Amino acid sequence: MSLYNCPNCGEKTFNPISKAMAGQLNSRGKVCMKCGRRAVNGKGATIFNALFSILVFAGIVVLYLYAPKLRDTQYEWVTHYELLISIGLILLKFIVPRLVNAFCFRLEPAIRIDPVE
Ligand SMILES: [Zn+2]
Repeated sequence: MSLYNCPNCGEKTFNPISKAMAGQLNSRGKVCMKCGRRAVNGKGATIFNALFSILVFAGIVVLYLYAPKLRDTQYEWVTHYELLISIGLILLKFIVPRLVNAFCFRLEPAIRIDPVE
């Protein structure tokens, strides 16, 4: 069974893009074109994304605390690009989990119950 098989009916109805858009356990997920049920990226993806968010946040805090101390050292460039590095980290926080969702971890049936439908 490939990563792109629907966890509900087993048909290969997903691709890297739709899998990336399916979100994680806490999201509504993406509807399978065959069976109409929803699928999300499972526990592995959810845990990875949570850990990655913490890492990015820690990186931003460390940068904020230590960048001023690097002035007049060989790492002075960090001080100059502090804002750019922070923005880069925030972009990574949005891009990396989507890439990981697209190419790693299995899909699982969505468990969130939506009162609207
Ligand atoms: Zn299906």
